Amino acid sequence: MEECVFCRIVKGELPCYRLYESELALAFLDINPITRGHALIIPKRHVERLGQLSEEEVKEVFSAAAEIAEASLSALGAKGANFWVNQGSIAGQVVKHFHAHVVPRYAEEEVKVEVRPLKLSEEEMESIAERLRLGR
Ligand code: AMP
Repeated sequence: MEECVFCRIVKGELPCYRLYESELALAFLDINPITRGHALIIPKRHVERLGQLSEEEVKEVFSAAAEIAEASLSALGAKGANFWVNQGSIAGQVVKHFHAHVVPRYAEEEVKVEVRPLKLSEEEMESIAERLRLGR
């Protein structure tokens, strides 16, 4: 099986435009940027889903994401940012090594996300909430 492309970046076998590196996390520019400064933040450890990250990794990845978004405001003149995680093929995850996207936004028309809200009954909403409620 071919090795994960992001693991190869972590090992230094593939180049990247590195933005941040710590013991647990790495941030670099997306090679196919949607906007200027489109960045990816990954845990160095290969896991696929957000739920598999340790609390420290979650903190590292998302605090780096927040800081990079702030830097895009001050250094690139962005006006906002989208923070994205595609989890699972069904949600568009192509690289199966967890990564958070930071997409700095400069204009409304750069990115189009089509959203079609479902119409659910109160019973369905209550039943869903019941099953998802956290037991803590
Ligand atoms: P996703 O659909 O969330 O799995 O997105 C994977 C992202 O990884 C895409 O936006 C790709 O452009 C990006 N990508 C793939 N290979 C590389 C690479 N070698 N360096 C930087 N970004 C990459």
